[in-house]
Amino acid sequence: MTFTNEALTDFTVPENVETYRTALTEVQGRLGADYPLTIGGDKLETGEWIESYNPGRTSELIGRSAKGGQAEIDRALAAAWDAFRPWSTLTMDERITVVRRVADVMRRRRFELAAWMTLEAGKNYAEADADVAEAIDFCEYYAHQAPGLAGEHETYPSPGESNTATLVPLGAGAVISPWNFPLAIFAGMAIGPAVVGNTLVLKPSPDTPIVAQKFIECAEEAGFPPGVLNLVTGADAEIGDYLVDHPRTRFINFTGSLNTGIRINQRAAAVQPGQLWIKKVGLEMGGKDALIVDETADLDYAARMAVASGYGFGGQKCSAMSRLIAVDAIYDELVERFVGLAAELEVGPAEDNPDFGALINERARDKSLHYIDIGKETARLLAGGSPGPEGGHYVTPTVFADVKPDSKLAQEEIFGPVVSIIKARDFDDALDIANNTMFGLTGGLISEDRDRLDRAKREFEVGNLYLNRKITGAFVGLQPFGGLRLSGTTVKAGGPYYLRQYLAEKTIVEKL
Ligand code: NAD
Repeated sequence: MTFTNEALTDFTVPENVETYRTALTEVQGRLGADYPLTIGGDKLETGEWIESYNPGRTSELIGRSAKGGQAEIDRALAAAWDAFRPWSTLTMDERITVVRRVADVMRRRRFELAAWMTLEAGKNYAEADADVAEAIDFCEYYAHQAPGLAGEHETYPSPGESNTATLVPLGAGAVISPWNFPLAIFAGMAIGPAVVGNTLVLKPSPDTPIVAQKFIECAEEAGFPPGVLNLVTGADAEIGDYLVDHPRTRFINFTGSLNTGIRINQRAAAVQPGQLWIKKVGLEMGGKDALIVDETADLDYAARMAVASGYGFGGQKCSAMSRLIAVDAIYDELVERFVGLAAELEVGPAEDNPDFGALINERARDKSLHYIDIGKETARLLAGGSPGPEGGHYVTPTVFADVKPDSKLAQEEIFGPVVSIIKARDFDDALDIANNTMFGLTGGLISEDRDRLDRAKREFEVGNLYLNRKITGAFVGLQPFGGLRLSGTTVKAGGPYYLRQYLAEKTIVEKL
């Protein structure tokens, strides 16, 4: 069986828009429900709740998810270890069958799942649809990759003894996921370790607990046995460190910001009393992604690619372009075209399918506005620079030109619709500027010059480099995703080595 990506929905087709709106209406009729934790197959309430609101219409309650505390983490890890032996001793094919069924359930619920994301995460139709498609892709791709890791691996013959080496799962691990791909990243980070035999405590972002609940519904319907995927929603301050520090946590699969990742890495390094292993930590973190445009580029095309890269989902993608680096010879012309397009973008409730919706929460909005204040002092504001419509966490598409490469605006991840344009003397200077941050996630070059494209391949220090296209939107299996430097620990999601990191090698020698 080969792997093919799930096709994206074409929203230029009116019937697809109609179907999406119907799904939204159905989901809107189900808002405000309560969801329990799922631990060892049991549904648990704690008497306290995390409330999740629509970021674009902050009075609208999406749902309440039970607020787990430390006792629930203890219980979830115990359930995950109880489930570990039976789950890990199934054959790879048996686990793959369950994982493929999750993909089937998500396919059937595709528009509904997307509608939940529009309402809980503020994704417009295409972004939410792509998120579900990617979640399906992760299931299918990891199911496709897993057989290659099953069975015995070859060792050299040795007279008088039998030697075998196999890959064995690690145990019960933690998945700590971000809110910005609340289904795709959450599902991928869970399904990868699970398909090769591990069990998990899933701790989604407190900003998107309801989408996480929807994933659990899909996994349960698909037949995931109790205890393999345990969902504990809760507040970071109460359960974040506790889950990371816990002596029964075998590994941590984390995607999120640099600061949280560094904290997790440091804490996980300590061996707690009773702990029997060194925790394995995988970290996928932030970026300060740059697109370079040189004087050979088609500037209309470059401006369109830059706007798509910078403002898709309001700049809330780890891969989003937050620095546009233009060489002197075309700087003014590119700035003019880019600002023209950026200023036309529509911002509003995601339900209305604008170019982008609200930022995820008040903190995110305040963070963007804070950087906008800094930009007003240190650079040239050309568009936006203000909160958007009332009623949600909106920020208008903002463009700063003449940003200094070493300034805060050009160095720190903002994670909002704020693009810094930087002038470079020439291509060499542009490449130096692009590489001049602590991050190394995505980057791109738009150029007609073959030598420069080749140099970018060698010298642009990023995990995902895009030549002559936008720098967001990696496809599972086609474009394994993950960063260099402080953007990540280099094992790519949706790539051929991902599953291997959740396996240890066991060698058995028998004297004959
Ligand atoms: P975040 O770091 O605030 O949170 C990520 C996760 O960590 C959440 O589940 C959060 O609840 C949890 N968390 C917070 N404090 C914790 C603690 N002390 N211990 C344990 N867990 C804790 O990030 P976010 O705002 O949810 O996501 C946005 C960030 O994620 C951006 O920096 C973005 O670049 C990054 N990101 C990276 C990738 C990638 O593949 N490299 C993909 C998506 C997002």
